[in-house]
Amino acid sequence: MVGPSPYPYASFIALKRTYDELFVLCVPCRRYIRLAIGPIRERDSRTTTFSCSVCGSVGHLVIDDPAKDGYTLDPRDKPERHPAARTRIVARAFAAREPPRHLIDPPKRGP
Ligand SMILES: [Zn+2]
Repeated sequence: MVGPSPYPYASFIALKRTYDELFVLCVPCRRYIRLAIGPIRERDSRTTTFSCSVCGSVGHLVIDDPAKDGYTLDPRDKPERHPAARTRIVARAFAAREPPRHLIDPPKRGP
């Protein structure tokens, strides 16, 4: 049966159903993981970022098996986040919770 996708547009579950396997790779480390989408299945893949747990640089989402390009599979089950990535995420969450004061209480203008 062909029809519109039952999954949210560009969500990880939609990608997984289309491409079967998703990978995240780190270019400097030449490592990759198979992406387990469990908790992020409904999330928009276009706005989700990844980072390397070893060097902290950007993790790239790819659909082609990186092993073919000489990348090594990282066998660790649940690697710890890189400290720089953790700091970035915490700072972003804090900024999201605390909107700038002028947005909450706009300055009075005019008479
Ligand atoms: Zn890395």
